[in-house]
Amino acid sequence: MAQAQLKSQPKTTAALSDEVFDVAVIGAGVVGCAMARRFTLEGAKVAVIEKATDILDGASKANSAILHTGFDAPVGSLELDCIRKGYAEYETIMGDLGLVQEKCGAFVVAWTQAQMNSLTAIEKQAKDNGISDVSLIDADALQQVEPNLSNRAIAALKVPQESIVDPWSAPYVYLRQALENGAQVFLSSAVNSGTFDGQNWLLETDRGRLRTGLVINCAGLYGDILDKDLLGQSDFHITPRKGQFVVYDKAASGLLNSIILPVPTETTKGVVLFRTVFGNLVVGPTAEDQTSRKDASTDEQALKALMREGEDKLPELANMPVTAVYAGLRPASERKEYRITPRPEKNWITVGGIRSTGLSAALGIARHVYELYQNMGATHRAISDPKTPKANVLAQSGQRDWRAAGHGEIACHCELVTNREIKAALKGPLAAKSLAGLKRQTRATMGRCQGFYCSARLAELTAGKLDPPISQEIDDA
Ligand SMILES: Cc1cc2nc3c(=O)[nH]c(=O)nc-3n(C[C@H](O)[C@H](O)[C@H](O)COP(=O)(O)OP(=O)(O)OC[C@H]3O[C@@H](n4cnc5c(N)ncnc54)[C@H](O)[C@@H]3O)c2cc1C
Repeated sequence: MAQAQLKSQPKTTAALSDEVFDVAVIGAGVVGCAMARRFTLEGAKVAVIEKATDILDGASKANSAILHTGFDAPVGSLELDCIRKGYAEYETIMGDLGLVQEKCGAFVVAWTQAQMNSLTAIEKQAKDNGISDVSLIDADALQQVEPNLSNRAIAALKVPQESIVDPWSAPYVYLRQALENGAQVFLSSAVNSGTFDGQNWLLETDRGRLRTGLVINCAGLYGDILDKDLLGQSDFHITPRKGQFVVYDKAASGLLNSIILPVPTETTKGVVLFRTVFGNLVVGPTAEDQTSRKDASTDEQALKALMREGEDKLPELANMPVTAVYAGLRPASERKEYRITPRPEKNWITVGGIRSTGLSAALGIARHVYELYQNMGATHRAISDPKTPKANVLAQSGQRDWRAAGHGEIACHCELVTNREIKAALKGPLAAKSLAGLKRQTRATMGRCQGFYCSARLAELTAGKLDPPISQEIDDA
C-alpha cells in the first residue's frame, strides 16, 4: 500500500460515509461546485468535501463578478480555453438554471499615450483569442456611451461580450444540481490526510473517513498544502494576492453603463470600475501579494487610493456615499497559467492556481478535468434527463421574491430580502450555517445600512441556526 504523508491525526475514526465514491472533490469554491456538477451529470458518484460550514468560503467569496470573455488571456493558454468553454456553457445553461447575465460590455480605456499605443496590441490579442467583435473607438465615441467618464480618456477598446453575473447564486446552483442528481456534500470536514492503496483513497477528515476512487484537489488557497500533505509534494506554491474593493451606494450605479477596465499589467488586470447585478457600483480590486491565506482585511490607505482612482476616472463618484468595503484573496501561484495536473498513478487530479478568472472559467475547467479523467480510463454513463434546480433570484433585473405574494414580510429592507428567502436559505443540504453564508444566499445585511436596521429581526428568524448567532455578531461589532 502506498502511504501518503500523514500531517495530523484524524479527530475521529468514524465514517463520514460508508459508501465508496467514484470521485471526491475537495473544496467547494466555484471550481469545486462546477466540478461536482460536471462529474455528476456524466454519471459519476461524487462526494464534495468542504472544510468550512458554508460553501464559497475561500477565494470565491469575494471577487469582481465579471464573466470574462478571455479577450486578454494569454494566447493559446489552458486558461483561455477554459474561460471560452466556461463562458459558452454558462450561456447554454443559464435559461434552465435561472442564471443571470447582464451583457453590459467593457471598455479598456487608455488614459495616456503609452496606454493608447498598447490598445492595438490588446485588440490583436483579443482577435487571436477568437474574440472578433472588439473594436477601437476614440474619445468622442466613448463619451457618448459613458458621458460621466472623465474627459481625460484618450481612446478605448470596446469588448461587447464582457458581462456581470451573480458570483454566488451561480456556484450554489451548480452544486445544487449535482446534489439533486445524486452527489453528496460534507461540510465542516477539512481533509487532513489520506492513504492510497493503489485503487482507492481513504481520506481522513475532521468528521470522519471517506473512501473514493479519484481525488480532485479544488482547495484553492490551500491547493499546494493539500498536495503536499497527501501526495508528499506540490509542484506549485500559492502566494495569496489580496484584492480590496470599495462599494458605492446604489445611486452611483447610474453613473456607468459598462465595465471600465484599465490597460492591464503583467500581474493584474488593474483597478476596474463596474456595476454589480445587485445595483451597486464598485471600484477595485487592488493586487497585493501576502503570505497569509486567511487575512482578507481592508486597510484605509488602499481604500483611499481606490477612491481617488475611482473619482479621477468617474468624477461624480466624489458625491456618492460608500456602502461597504471588502477584500478577496486570489490563489496565485508562481505562474500565470492554471496548475491543473493529472496524476494517474495516484488517482489524483490537482486543480490549483485558479487565480483571477475562476468564476468565468469554472464550467470550462470542469469539462477539461473530466476529459483528463476519461484519459485515465474512466467510463460512466451520463445522466439522460438531469434535474435542473433554479438559482436564487437576487439580481435587480430578476423577478425578486418580494414582488410575489406570500413572502411573509420583508426582513432586510435595503436589499428587499423576504422572510421566505431567509427561511429557504436555512433549509436543505446547503443550509446557511453562518451569517456570511446567509448573505451569499440572500444578500441580507449587504445593503446601505449593513445590517443596522435588520439584524434584530434576522437574529429572531435565524435563532438556533447560525454559529455564531447574529445576536453575538451584533454584540461583537
Ligand atoms: C479580488 C478578486 C477578484 C476576482 N475577480 C474575478 C472576476 O471578475 N471574474 C472571474 O472569473 N474571476 C475572478 N476572480 C477569481 C475567482 O474568484 C477565483 O479564481 C475563484 O474563486 C477560485 O475558486 P476555487 O474554487 O479554485 O478556490 P476557493 O474559492 O478558494 O475554494 C477552495 C475551497 O476549498 C476549501 N478547502 C481548502 N482546503 C481544504 C481541505 N483541506 N479540506 C476541505 N476543504 C478545503 C476552502 O474552504 C474553499 O472553500 C477574482 C478573485 C479575486 C480574489
